[in-house]
Amino acid sequence: MALKTKVWDAADHLETDADMVAYLDAALENGDSTVIAAALGDIARAKGMTQIAQDAGLGRESLYKALSPAGNPEFGTVLKVVHALGLRLHAETVLSTGVRPHFPLKLGLTPVFYLTMSLRTTTHEVFNQTPELRGHNRYVGNLALQEGVAREGAGWADAWLIERGLELGSEQMQEWATQANRNPPQLQAFSATGERSDTVLYHPAYHALMAYLKRHGVSSGPWADPKPGAHVARAALFQLFAEVEGGALCPTTMTYACVPALKREPKLAATWLPKVLSPEYDSRFLPGPQKTGATLGMGMTEKQGGSDVRSNTTFAEPAGQDEWGETCRLTGHKWFLSAPMSDAFLVLAQTAPGPSCFFVPRFLPDGSVNDIRIQRLKDKLGDRSNASSEVEFWNARGWLVGEAGRGIPTLLEMGTWTRLDCVLGSAGLMRGAISIALHHAHHRSVFGKLLVQQPLMMNVLADLALETEAAQSLALRLAGAFDRRSDEREALLMRLLTPAAKYWVCKRGPTLAAEAMEVLGGNGYVEENQMAGIYRQIPVNSIWEGSGNVMCLDVLRALRKHPETVSALLSEIEPALGRHEAFDRHVSWLKDNLLSQEHSEASGRRLTQGIALGMQGALLLRHAPDDVAEAFCASRFGSEAIHSHGTFGNLLPSHNLEGLIERAWPLGD
Ligand SMILES: Cc1cc2nc3c(=O)[nH]c(=O)nc-3n(C[C@H](O)[C@H](O)[C@H](O)COP(=O)(O)OP(=O)(O)OC[C@H]3O[C@@H](n4cnc5c(N)ncnc54)[C@H](O)[C@@H]3O)c2cc1C
Repeated sequence: MALKTKVWDAADHLETDADMVAYLDAALENGDSTVIAAALGDIARAKGMTQIAQDAGLGRESLYKALSPAGNPEFGTVLKVVHALGLRLHAETVLSTGVRPHFPLKLGLTPVFYLTMSLRTTTHEVFNQTPELRGHNRYVGNLALQEGVAREGAGWADAWLIERGLELGSEQMQEWATQANRNPPQLQAFSATGERSDTVLYHPAYHALMAYLKRHGVSSGPWADPKPGAHVARAALFQLFAEVEGGALCPTTMTYACVPALKREPKLAATWLPKVLSPEYDSRFLPGPQKTGATLGMGMTEKQGGSDVRSNTTFAEPAGQDEWGETCRLTGHKWFLSAPMSDAFLVLAQTAPGPSCFFVPRFLPDGSVNDIRIQRLKDKLGDRSNASSEVEFWNARGWLVGEAGRGIPTLLEMGTWTRLDCVLGSAGLMRGAISIALHHAHHRSVFGKLLVQQPLMMNVLADLALETEAAQSLALRLAGAFDRRSDEREALLMRLLTPAAKYWVCKRGPTLAAEAMEVLGGNGYVEENQMAGIYRQIPVNSIWEGSGNVMCLDVLRALRKHPETVSALLSEIEPALGRHEAFDRHVSWLKDNLLSQEHSEASGRRLTQGIALGMQGALLLRHAPDDVAEAFCASRFGSEAIHSHGTFGNLLPSHNLEGLIERAWPLGD
């Protein structure tokens, strides 16, 4: 049999299976890869011609014509045929001739395969790509969150959170998040006719996200309808939302955090509190009292100092009393003032007795615009849907909040609430990141197996899941302490754990996000994927509202000012003793350090990390399944810890990796 015939002629001579086997044997004997390839192609065509003709809606003759170089091929037909041939080449020819691929055969196959692929230029079949993660219920799939909500006293909110979980997993929510971040806010400093405008234009998707948060009480629900577990229920929703979008959470947090301070000023509160507590979001640039709902912002950070707010240079001059209370005129600037379209801000400014806190609205009581000039918007790494501005105050009017000269304690109280949200935000972003990674690993095949079945990837995923569950548990325990702060022990825990958890959870976030991104390979690095947005958003929680070192110094301050905090902390950790040797050793070390009178600033990170890890270990030992607690304690406190150097995926294979993954992704899809 001639092997170098034109492929189309050869197909005519291959009538029976015996012809084909003989033909292929001869080709294999010849050994030339192009000859083998041609033979395979011929056999594919001969075996499949009738079917191909049917598929392409052609008679056998017109098929030959379409394929023949001498014919007048209609391009679409050729593509269809070549595609069908390519599939048959793999699916039928090699297998049905009884020849299993071996080295020379593969050599032959390669050129034909690439020829086939190269001819399919207009489109191609997409396979082994992960479908986008849409339509899942973010709450139902998150066992650690559900258990924490029940444990911390908000089990009553379960049905409400299930509804929110579904909404937050929807296509619509993701689309809003994408649009709000792809179309960042624009400053309109001046009107078309040259007058100062000082407004910011947002994409409608941002407003939709803000309205969602306000409607469901994330900015004020626990204040508007206080009940046991209200802050925990809100904390759960905050985390679920953080999985989707971060920018809208900033003004939401600031509004939530300003309420306790605002409540202290009855005159201001009478006008403003109903607007702040309203579930309505009103984006119109109007005086607050005329709107259906209001949001609040905060202004402390100046060019010369953000952590060191005592260095503020903005000053306030007394301007008498009016219906909102004691008023001053403020002159100065703020280097970071997020959400400048908020209806009012709590601002720090110098007064004769020292730094004081002021309520500074965008409009004055007479309806005129307060003189707050927006200089420019920051061009930020992440958090892009949220406008962060630089502003100047030109004799802007402010109303005193709290005692004159006691502005820093007033703002620190607000800071406690915003720091809680940093922890919640990072825990939510971590969960968002591992959800995408786990979903991907259940769909993507490599080297013949799903990623989630590859032992090394299982180790990475299980470790990421452990870190996330520990973060979620600590975040919810902290929210529980906020809820129960009227109890002295809980108030002490809240005081200590707020900076400790903010330091540790927010510090772990970026490392975890980078590893979760890598689970997706190249797709993780591409903007269309949500992972890139998470990676850019997550570091901000560690920076704003007190950066890492400042949190550690605050932990030391809490221990120094309230030594009884140590017994409050130990009463939470010690019930977990006796269940894991490595954890017990850690607690012994922690206790020695906590009880020592001297806490050097230089070792602030070690101690803070030790407190946060001790709490996480205790929470998991007391409440999580044994496999979770065992793997966490062994890898964070035991001999395994020395192998990690801050990376993930160093668990001992003897841990129940599969079980840890299943717990983190019970839907298994
Ligand atoms: C996106 C974004 C939005 C923001 N929005 C607002 C806003 O709306 N309102 C507002 O008031 N601010 C806002 N900020 C500012 C933010 O709160 C500050 O940037 C932050 O508090 C740190 O202050 P700083 O930038 O002046 O840094 P610095 O205070 O100069 O700190 C720099 C570094 O030094 C460390 N450090 C500080 N003191 C010590 C010390 N004693 N010992 C050891 N290390 C120390 C810090 O931990 C930090 O790592 C925003 C920031 C960002 C990024």
